[in-house]
Amino acid sequence: MSHVETYPVDGTCVFCRIVAGQLPCFKLCEDDDTIAFMDINPVAPGHALAVAKGHWPTVDVIPGDVLASVARTAQRVARAVGTVLKPEGINLVQSNGPGAAQSVPHLHVHILPRHREDGVLLNWALVAGDRAAVEAVYQRIKAAL
Ligand SMILES: [Zn+2]
Repeated sequence: MSHVETYPVDGTCVFCRIVAGQLPCFKLCEDDDTIAFMDINPVAPGHALAVAKGHWPTVDVIPGDVLASVARTAQRVARAVGTVLKPEGINLVQSNGPGAAQSVPHLHVHILPRHREDGVLLNWALVAGDRAAVEAVYQRIKAAL
């Protein structure tokens, strides 16, 4: 079932504004309930996000079928990231609440390409990425979807 007609929106939320087309993103793909785009503060090249279209902050309040759709989108993007970048591994990271370092209170899954010795910690500092570098890897992954 699609929630496209009924999902909650928070006009101050950066992800809701991306879903509404009010902010730009490097959009990888979307369906009725989800959208995927590049993280513009990437912890590694190819860092992407799978996001519910509705403003459900955390895993305990999102409808299960929408969470399942987010998981399918994360899987689709992870396959493309793996094909294009051939990382040694990929983490899917989904955080709930400030104690888990959730930076945007709108449910999302990070798709993180990983390499041994990359030094990435699961609670990383937000550092603005180089937009041209984000766009370059975005084009490659999008083409693989
Ligand atoms: Zn939101």
